[in-house]
Amino acid sequence: MLTEQAVGKVTMEKLVSLCKRRGFIFPSSEIYGSLGATYDYGPLGVELKNNVKKAWWRAVVQERDDMVGLDASILMHPQTWVASGHVQGFADPLVDCKQCRKRWRADHVKGKGCPDCQGELTEPRMFNLMFKTSVGAVEDEATVVYLRPETAQGIFVNFQNVLTSTRKKLPFGIAQIGKSFRNEITTGNFIFRMREFEQMEIEYFVKPGTDEESFKRWVEDRFNWYVNLGIKKENLRLRQHAKDELAHYARDCYDVEYLFPIGWSELEGIANRTDFDLKQHAQHSGKDLSYFDEETKERIIPYVIEPSAGVDRSVLAFLADAYDEEPDKDETRVVLRLHPDLTPVKVAVLPLSRNEKLAPLSREVCGSLRRSWMVQYDDAQSIGRRYRRQDEIGTPFCVTIDFQSLEDRQVTIRERDKMRQIRVPVEALKSTLDAKLNGEAFDVLPPGGKRWLGFES
Ligand code: ATP
Repeated sequence: MLTEQAVGKVTMEKLVSLCKRRGFIFPSSEIYGSLGATYDYGPLGVELKNNVKKAWWRAVVQERDDMVGLDASILMHPQTWVASGHVQGFADPLVDCKQCRKRWRADHVKGKGCPDCQGELTEPRMFNLMFKTSVGAVEDEATVVYLRPETAQGIFVNFQNVLTSTRKKLPFGIAQIGKSFRNEITTGNFIFRMREFEQMEIEYFVKPGTDEESFKRWVEDRFNWYVNLGIKKENLRLRQHAKDELAHYARDCYDVEYLFPIGWSELEGIANRTDFDLKQHAQHSGKDLSYFDEETKERIIPYVIEPSAGVDRSVLAFLADAYDEEPDKDETRVVLRLHPDLTPVKVAVLPLSRNEKLAPLSREVCGSLRRSWMVQYDDAQSIGRRYRRQDEIGTPFCVTIDFQSLEDRQVTIRERDKMRQIRVPVEALKSTLDAKLNGEAFDVLPPGGKRWLGFES
């Protein structure tokens, strides 16, 4: 069910089709008719997704003194989910259509009838979204475990381990990227809502009383992260949760929303969760999860700010925002104007033709660039078509080797966005591309947003 609201020229159908055609994203187990709301990342998709995760990790862990990383397991002690409230409360109201038997999330249905056939709906009943499985050989109640519905709890249960092993002082945070699972009721918007997906989550621990200030900074930082990676500001907004939307323990919450082809929807949530989680786990585990404040010589339970983002929703937002079409003679030129940090392929090496004389230098150039970046070598079809193929997958630079190159060892760099070309000596190719890919070609936009400008800057 794709409700299309035109956002420029991009629609969900166009993205789904591009992703399938060029190997970004495929429906899972497609040869068996697919499994609902699960998708596989293809050769280009896995590069894009890894680059999104790398960019996030760099911004929130690598470039900061006050953050460390973690990779907790998907299966956790079942008490974790009792303490977190998920066993009791991680449920959506579900209604069934009495006529066509389709299931819907009650809060996603407008009006009283089934959105598909207008049939009468049952009364809502609560449906827990956690997938259950069991560990060990005997399937009884004692062995029931859950596939984690969020990565955050892996951070809370490791709070003392990280504190003791890193000797971090407040404020500090723990970041984690990993798979989460939710038995979602309403699906059907491509990778926007899946049953198996990936999250990038931070728990940032602060002294009570400093939480509001820290919360504000995280909301700004996270909004700017998307802008810095090229998302147009007019397609992003912050939405504060109303009092009646907030979880009972949360003091404040903002969603970063993106204007997806299905309309404005949540990309990331940032919440001030107070001391709820650590207190719950301390109580249920019987372990001390407090922090010794050396200034006041008191033990305190830190407050926590949680920026929680979806990897897949980010991928979808980056793709939607980058997608562009422009007339090109009788055809349409499709260009993914992705930020160079995110593009699956950074450089394409294209010998002008398949003439064997061009191959040795082309292979030499390709080999030397491969040590630094994902590079594609392509010598099939006309050079024009090959440029188009690279534009469509977002490759920021194509390097062309022609017959002149054999004489003067100079090659042509062609840039994706403005299609301008410059000629550089092979010996200066790596450093030129390095400069272009790593900052020289960026311009600073207020407030701190960097925008890719190709050769222009
Ligand atoms: P929604 O209201 O859309 O169901 P949520 O508020 O339950 O989302 P959170 O629990 O705050 O989502 O999860 C944090 C982030 O994880 C979301 O902002 C989103 O990017 C991502 N996410 C959550 N559920 C899914 C899903 N089913 N598929 C893909 N990404 C998801």
